[in-house]
Amino acid sequence: MNTLGSLYIISAPSGAGKTSLVKALLALDPSVLVSVSHTTRAPRPGEQEGQDYNFVSPEHFDEMVGRGEFLEYAEVFGNRYGTSQHWVQQRLAEGLDVILEIDWQGAQQVRRLVKQAVSIFILPPSREALLQRLAGRGQDDSSVIAARMAEAVSEMSHYPEFDYLVINDDFDHALADLACIFRAQRLKQHPQQQRHAELLAQLLSE
Ligand code: 5GP
Repeated sequence: MNTLGSLYIISAPSGAGKTSLVKALLALDPSVLVSVSHTTRAPRPGEQEGQDYNFVSPEHFDEMVGRGEFLEYAEVFGNRYGTSQHWVQQRLAEGLDVILEIDWQGAQQVRRLVKQAVSIFILPPSREALLQRLAGRGQDDSSVIAARMAEAVSEMSHYPEFDYLVINDDFDHALADLACIFRAQRLKQHPQQQRHAELLAQLLSE
């Protein structure tokens, strides 16, 4: 894959605040884009087609799989989710940075395909805090909350596979940690060489 821009994978259990952190990061940094996934799940209230997800039927999803249109795809909690290969490839080729908000299964597939992808796992500050987030407005019964907790623990068990761990205790602190990872990545040899080719040539000229 042609990757002038950098590819970032961000995973987290639900309730860790991943989506809010990514939104805040995008607001800080206009050269970062987030890939809008395809999913077979129904939209939740307030979610918009093409913005939160591309909502498709299971048949449409299968056709896309058949045509090899996904960079990665996985089944998560009974629904299917996938990342458009073409969209990601185009943005990276344009030199833009792309974030994939995907689960651990998708992260494993992307790591195999894009060796230089940078992966970040966001964790809640405590089990109690996570439980509170998963309990939401207290309208769900305890078995539903227990099932969400079990799913979160299963997702979190994959944290050692990631390059970076960010603990979302204080939101601003976690956001600064994320921004720091992106900044350090931009200062790496290869992207800096491309960005400053003229300067480097000039500095070394006789
Ligand atoms: P939700 O339905 O709550 O928006 O997302 C459920 C889970 O699916 C989250 O862990 C999210 O990261 C994951 N997910 C969303 N889009 C994708 C995708 O394109 N690929 C994969 N593998 N997981 C995704």
